[in-house]
Amino acid sequence: MEYKVKDLSLAPKGRIQIEWALNHMPVLRRIMDEFSRTKPLNGIRISAVLHVTKETAVLVKTLSAGGAEIWLAASNPLSTQDDVASALVEEGIHVFAWRGETTEEYFWAISKVASIEPHIVIDDGGDLHSYIHTNMKDIVHKIYGGTEETTTGVLRLKSMEREGVLGYPVIAVNNALTKYLFDNRYGTGQSTVDGILRATNTLIAGKTVVVAGYGWVGRGIALRFRGMGANVIVTEVNPIRALEAVMDGFMVMKMSEAAKLGDIFITATGNINVINRQHFELMKDGAILANSGHFDVEINVKDLEAMAISKRDLRECVTEYVLPNGRRLYLLGRGRLVNLVCAEGHPSEVMDMSFANQALSAKYIVENRGRLEKRVYDVPLEIDQKVAELKLASMGIEIDTLTEEQKKYLSSWTL
Ligand code: NAD
Ligand code: SAH
Repeated sequence: MEYKVKDLSLAPKGRIQIEWALNHMPVLRRIMDEFSRTKPLNGIRISAVLHVTKETAVLVKTLSAGGAEIWLAASNPLSTQDDVASALVEEGIHVFAWRGETTEEYFWAISKVASIEPHIVIDDGGDLHSYIHTNMKDIVHKIYGGTEETTTGVLRLKSMEREGVLGYPVIAVNNALTKYLFDNRYGTGQSTVDGILRATNTLIAGKTVVVAGYGWVGRGIALRFRGMGANVIVTEVNPIRALEAVMDGFMVMKMSEAAKLGDIFITATGNINVINRQHFELMKDGAILANSGHFDVEINVKDLEAMAISKRDLRECVTEYVLPNGRRLYLLGRGRLVNLVCAEGHPSEVMDMSFANQALSAKYIVENRGRLEKRVYDVPLEIDQKVAELKLASMGIEIDTLTEEQKKYLSSWTL
């Protein structure tokens, strides 16, 4: 069996981590039971690029219970939980992932999982979709469909669709309401706090925290830091979102102003070079820099490297840069996703919904193969609603239903 992980002897520890996640993912457990009985993915080959975490392990086990063969690589070179990767190999999953991959190794692992000529492509960030469309043009037409886990990946796929190069239908899992309202907002809100605290153990109360971007991720982060007593400043480029931030009670200003005030900076835009040389020059001694958006390009680490007169790794996850003005800046997790590199990513309870959408979307692709166009589709509303219903049920929460009279009232227009 082909695989490449750090150390197979870590598997027993990984198995316990996966058991912990499974116990906190009731929706996916239900789907796993259903898949074990009905085998909707029998004979299906899946190439997946996701953060190799205990939560991803539960998704992979669910797909495997449905009959699929899965080849898995990491969606970030620093986020792999090595014990979990080993436990998955022991279960027969072809895993090519270890924490600390170089850029070459990261793309080698992606090429390995792509090499199986998959029926379904599951990606987080679009690197696998992009790799297949660039390097495997001759097999693209055989792929039944793909899914995409995150905002930036969906943006990249929509640009492929616009340019007419998208080779198979893709379901934008990120855009399910039961994904971004919870995962992007509450998941990232909490796990970003977790990553920054595990890296630094700094006091949040009374600090000035600058959050770049007030999308679903940014608003979750701003909310949680305010809850811990920070003064939160938001920077934005979209006037509507900036206005929302103002009316949610946050200070809003340009990064060039916020740079002088912040103790902790967190980027969450999905954009490039949001914090640059001109901002580093203005920052206070001891400012902490963290990124929770896609890739390591939001904070311009190249600028920081170029201008620093010295650099050293201080703690795991903390690199100190000394600038020519004598001030020290602390970069967390090398500018990669702080919640996954310096902590464990989102809690299992929230990934339960994101990955329930993934599993049900994979089943949907198989059921509808040949009928979907080469487009980016939203997750069907029935799936989104089913996930919400199962989640509520797992929490023991019942809600009201519309009476016939209410349904009629809501659909009438006469006086
Ligand atoms: P979003 O589109 O809802 O929000 C992004 C916001 O950033 C927008 O409001 C946009 O106007 C703003 N923005 C863009 N350029 C900016 C700039 N130069 N300065 C200030 N603001 C700017 O997206 P989202 O769902 O909030 O996701 C944001 C990023 O986080 C994406 O890259 C996504 O893939 C990633 N993400 C990370 C995690 C995680 O676990 N860390 C979870 C979900 C999403
Ligand atoms: N390749 C990109 C991937 C974007 S990561 C990068 O590393 O920069 C953002 C995605 O990570 C989110 O959409 C979220 O669903 C996912 N994520 C967060 N916590 C996770 C966890 N515990 N396990 C697996 N995926 C997780």
